[in-house]
Amino acid sequence: MNEYREMEVKDHVRLWNECLAVIKDNIPSSAFETWFKPIVPESWEDKTMTITVPSNFYAEFLDEHYSDLLKQTFTRVMGSGTKLVYSIIQEAATQTTVERNSGHVIPVKENASGVDSYNPFPERSNRKRIEPQLNPHYTFDTFVEGACNKLARSAGLAIAEAPGKNTFNPIFIYGGSGLGKTHLAQAIGWATLEKHPEKKVLYVDSNRFQAQYTEAHLRNCVNDFIAFYQMIDLLIVDDIQFFAGKTGTQNIFFQIFNQLQLNGKQIVLVADQSPKLLQGLDDRMLTRFRWGLNAELEQPSMETRKAILKSKVKTDGLIIPDNVLDYIAEHVSDSVRELEGVVNSLLAQSTLTDAEINMELVSKVVSSLVAAPERTVTVSSIQEMVCNYYGLEPRMLQSNSRKREVVQARQIAMFLSRKYTKVSLSSIGEQIGNRDHATVLYACKAIQNLVEVDKEVQRSVEAIESSLK
Ligand code: ADP
Ligand code: MG
Repeated sequence: MNEYREMEVKDHVRLWNECLAVIKDNIPSSAFETWFKPIVPESWEDKTMTITVPSNFYAEFLDEHYSDLLKQTFTRVMGSGTKLVYSIIQEAATQTTVERNSGHVIPVKENASGVDSYNPFPERSNRKRIEPQLNPHYTFDTFVEGACNKLARSAGLAIAEAPGKNTFNPIFIYGGSGLGKTHLAQAIGWATLEKHPEKKVLYVDSNRFQAQYTEAHLRNCVNDFIAFYQMIDLLIVDDIQFFAGKTGTQNIFFQIFNQLQLNGKQIVLVADQSPKLLQGLDDRMLTRFRWGLNAELEQPSMETRKAILKSKVKTDGLIIPDNVLDYIAEHVSDSVRELEGVVNSLLAQSTLTDAEINMELVSKVVSSLVAAPERTVTVSSIQEMVCNYYGLEPRMLQSNSRKREVVQARQIAMFLSRKYTKVSLSSIGEQIGNRDHATVLYACKAIQNLVEVDKEVQRSVEAIESSLK
């Protein structure tokens, strides 16, 4: 009773800040910055928290993605039975969360030395430099050449010699999933930096770009956002098929694209289809894309698959008998990612269970990971794939085992269930070892963090992801 009275006299700002502290610990910082920072707490009355959000879309997004988290947090901070009400700002003019002036388009300074004011990549950048956001592993040195990538690879090398000053602008790299598009695009970035360390190189995937644009829009600093991108010398945009149907983002991107081209800056675009077949993108834009070089990455031949496997095994310092490598190359032909998935699984199984890497093990791994028919992704199919990958008995995920490898497998299963299904956190927890909602949240966060810093975990997660599709 007392406690409740005390709650009521606490002011809404302080309560909201306490909630923010909890939320911040449970989601990636970029999501926190985008979706929680701009919220303004309005009032706290009758156990109802009213918060002001910039738009309907924003409220819907919070509801769809964070209602569990908000509910849990409110219960923790304010007690049970708390209600949440959104107050929506209709007019930009009355917006109270604006942090920056919109102003006019900031002219692009040819030799601007760095990031003056606005940088949509806050977490890995400082004010003076733009971090290229490239994966250190994705270089030309580790990219195995084959007939499947010959044109794209040599065009990429030529671009790195003279970015923007060649006929390959833009270069449009396309092909199926797992064929090396991202790797090659980033290799062009690294090689450019190596030849021209003064150039500003930047990699971004289309989803990230879209999220940054949304954030810039909410903060009323779209012009700063455009100006930031317009000062890049070599811009790599990955997976632009995801721009489909997003007219606002496409317009902004087109504006940036045109300005960069006008200024002789290099653009590298990546998609899963040729510009001819891409759906849902503006025709004006597709026509422009066709002006440059369209280079397809195809499925690697048997020879190239063997070469890729050999190179991978060598860089990882593994010992895998030749007949095992041949078996993999023969049976896994769809994508390089799948090839890597099989090798990673073998590695994981041999270290975790001390199994010898031999034909028996490899045929088991190949058939469980690769030959899987089309399936719908469910919490239980995810558990199955995780167990196949690590060679664990399915019941281990349900057990109370605290063994490191079991804990990690369980957490990865939770993380992937969150990512690929619409099942609620508490139901995921129920299905995976009867854990509670908070444990699942914690697992998702832990794996999200690990994926960013631990290459091994990143590869495992990617391999399991590709086996789900
Ligand atoms: P995509 O972007 O086309 O889906 P990725 O670039 O992510 O594919 O490649 C999937 C995996 O395969 C990555 O780990 C990448 O390093 C590897 N890979 C792809 N092509 C090659 C190649 N030619 N040589 C070496 N590794 C490759
Ligand atoms: Mg990719």
